[in-house]
Amino acid sequence: MHQFRDGVRNFRNHVFPTKQALFRRLSKSQAPKALFLTCADSRVVPSLITSTSPGELFVERNPGNIVPIYSDDLVGVSASIEYAATVLQVPEIIICGHSDCGAVRAFLNPDKTGNIPAVARWLLYGDEAVHRLHQIYPSLSGEDALPVLTQLNVEVQIENLLTHPSVRRRVERGDLDVYGWVYDIGTGAILAMDPQSKRFEEWPD
Ligand SMILES: [Zn+2]
Repeated sequence: MHQFRDGVRNFRNHVFPTKQALFRRLSKSQAPKALFLTCADSRVVPSLITSTSPGELFVERNPGNIVPIYSDDLVGVSASIEYAATVLQVPEIIICGHSDCGAVRAFLNPDKTGNIPAVARWLLYGDEAVHRLHQIYPSLSGEDALPVLTQLNVEVQIENLLTHPSVRRRVERGDLDVYGWVYDIGTGAILAMDPQSKRFEEWPD
């Protein structure tokens, strides 16, 4: 806890004073520019990799950056999506996977999640991506499959996102854009999905 105590003290005494006007404005309301939906992985820091300030990203995180298909079941992810799309009226949604993702690796090794049943159940949402991997790249397996499966997972979660009425309505009206990214931890690069070809290319140029 020492590290956090020192960190909180540093924020209060040194960081907060330099951004006082921003925090005073944010204390009244928020108007984020995007819903950023990503993995819970500690190495993915949304504000850092997008150079954004407090108040600019509405962030939803879970293992594997998963979006369950819309249903009446109450899932926290669905509430975040509905709130961001309807109340906050975010103009953009970014689903961001990342390299070396433990959740995506576990999609391929469900037998290793025997002692973590809640995780095992959650990771069933990766089944569709694994299915596509086996269909499109039958020869890929193990670590070789990981980067491709990470991209396929982003593609599938975007499709699932569009089953949410709050998102679909606005996308069809043309006032909400959805993007798929994969963040490479080792190089800092963002690969963005082309909506037509579904191919991931480094972005921006
Ligand atoms: Zn991850």
